[in-house]
Amino acid sequence: MLLCIALPKKASKLTAITAAVALAIAPMPPALAQQNKGPPIIRDTEAEQVLRDYTRPILRAAGLEKQNIQVVILNESGFNAFVADGRRIFVNHGALMQSETPNQIIGVLAHETGHLAGGHLAKLREQLAQAQTQMIIAMLLGAGAMVAGTRGGNSNGGLANVGAAAVAGPQEMIRRTLISYQRQQEENADRAGVKFLTASGQSAKGMYETFKRFTNDSLFAARGTDPYLQSHPMPAQRVAALEELARSSPYWDKKDDPALQLRHDMVRAKISAFMERQDTVYRRYPLSNDSLPARYARAIATYLHGDLRSALGQIDGLIQVQPNNPYFYELRGQALLEGGKAAEAIAPLRKAVQLSNNAPLIEMLLGQALVGTDNTAHTDEAIAILRAAVGRETEAPLGYTQLAMAYGRKGDFAQADLASAQAAFLRGDNKTARELASRAKTRFAIGTPGWVKADDIVAAKPLPGQNSN
Ligand SMILES: [Zn+2]
Repeated sequence: MLLCIALPKKASKLTAITAAVALAIAPMPPALAQQNKGPPIIRDTEAEQVLRDYTRPILRAAGLEKQNIQVVILNESGFNAFVADGRRIFVNHGALMQSETPNQIIGVLAHETGHLAGGHLAKLREQLAQAQTQMIIAMLLGAGAMVAGTRGGNSNGGLANVGAAAVAGPQEMIRRTLISYQRQQEENADRAGVKFLTASGQSAKGMYETFKRFTNDSLFAARGTDPYLQSHPMPAQRVAALEELARSSPYWDKKDDPALQLRHDMVRAKISAFMERQDTVYRRYPLSNDSLPARYARAIATYLHGDLRSALGQIDGLIQVQPNNPYFYELRGQALLEGGKAAEAIAPLRKAVQLSNNAPLIEMLLGQALVGTDNTAHTDEAIAILRAAVGRETEAPLGYTQLAMAYGRKGDFAQADLASAQAAFLRGDNKTARELASRAKTRFAIGTPGWVKADDIVAAKPLPGQNSN
């Protein structure tokens, strides 16, 4: 399952922080520029599991393994990765697509972990707060000079221009100060990243390869389109220092584990198939390419473009090659479910849940299949599975949407309203969440657990910058 959903409420304050940083030092990524809509994120068990496996040894080496740091995949095709709140590392799907080896993206994750471990974000925030004050003073001074120029009847002459220069000058100076501060942080994050990689027995070659691609005088940099480059200046000098450091590691020539490379390529194939145009998918993965990732991409593209029978045949072929791969069964279930065959989707989704050790996003899909059949005998099982899933995966609205349907089927409208309210709340639709939660409150006895949960939603205050309506 690969879902694109709005970034849940909890993360919305990140948007504001990122926007502030972006305004100061780099153009805002398009998704962040959309007001009151969190950047859409991609939820997929397979991709998230791979990224967890990439980050775990690095976070351990950085002493951050207890911090429960999540990697969040953003639905953006440009290359970007950044930290924003000390709890999450954001990675564009484009950064995964453009990383040919696990080691290349692991290097970027190691560098970002270097920012986290170095507390760079807190310092940057502080710096920004100061910069804003300075900026305000500078603008006041500049405006004052302009007013003075105009009053002197000299609006076409020197003084007015001095005023304009005073406005532009300090801002440019502040921008440069911020970037030079960033440069020091960048070098520190590089060094920390290499240290974490070496400590976990990994090569920093991939980090060097990626950053070299972004070097300021490279063709890539000349294009200037990728947000990563805007926020991570890559002077040749820095990349040369990184190369020297990386080469000194005993693991410089260590190759990626072939099994990990395959998982990496499978995730890239999946992202391509779900996110890119059909002709692009077939150009990347032509019929002449018989590799497992190419067959995976084509199977997904086939089901997405409506040929369920052919897609199922292709998926069965994949299952023959890897009979214990949970994501092939998940795909089979998802294709059947979306093809209107909920009852047939149940068996492969049960298998996917079992093989994935009860991955909650897959459990939600199984719950959806159970609810989607006309057989009410499945309803209690659906509720049990969905309750367990929403308990472990607290940010995906799908679980609550399906729970609401299951409760509705049982005639338990209090629980159905509460679950619908929780789903709306996670989508960031506070108005609907409040309305449904208020209605749920009238259906529960006062003070019961359901009533308390509904009351919490009614009373919840939107975070700054979040749509309050
Ligand atoms: Zn950086």
